[in-house]
Amino acid sequence: MACEYCEMIQKGELVLFQDKEIAVMLHPRPALKGHVMVVPKEHYAIMEQIPHEVIAKMMVHASRTSLVLFEQLKAQGANVLIQNGIAAGQTIPHTVIQVLPRYGGDGISLTWDPQEASENDLKEMEIKLKEESQHMNIQKEVVQQHPIEERKEQPRKDQNDQEENYLIKHLRRVP
Ligand SMILES: [Zn+2]
Repeated sequence: MACEYCEMIQKGELVLFQDKEIAVMLHPRPALKGHVMVVPKEHYAIMEQIPHEVIAKMMVHASRTSLVLFEQLKAQGANVLIQNGIAAGQTIPHTVIQVLPRYGGDGISLTWDPQEASENDLKEMEIKLKEESQHMNIQKEVVQQHPIEERKEQPRKDQNDQEENYLIKHLRRVP
């Protein structure tokens, strides 16, 4: 298999948690301890190929992972990052959300010098974004996939156990 992340998922390598669609795993070459990736099990080379309901779910996992990093590794902050495309630093053509625990003085730099776009470009972007928003109905897609009655149910036992290991019991008390 050509893709490193697909292979890791198949072998269960560095996987902390997984369900039908998503795996949460340690980064094979971590920037610092606790560097985690939220990975769709399906191979999507770029972010735009990921179905809306899957990327929405990935973001929820990233948020919960961030909580675990705060609680378990005493992180002081977290970066939630997608490197979408080679120019953005993507090296493996399988889109992931990276969650990095951050500490004051940890030496990782994500700073830049501010640069402004032209008025014209901004106006065109505004129009395009409004157009795009017409086709963005996440709520509808999620509800169609997981009807409301089903979403109200408690997670199934096996799923619950897996989640318990990963999310550490006391996290359930976090509002
Ligand atoms: Zn892959």
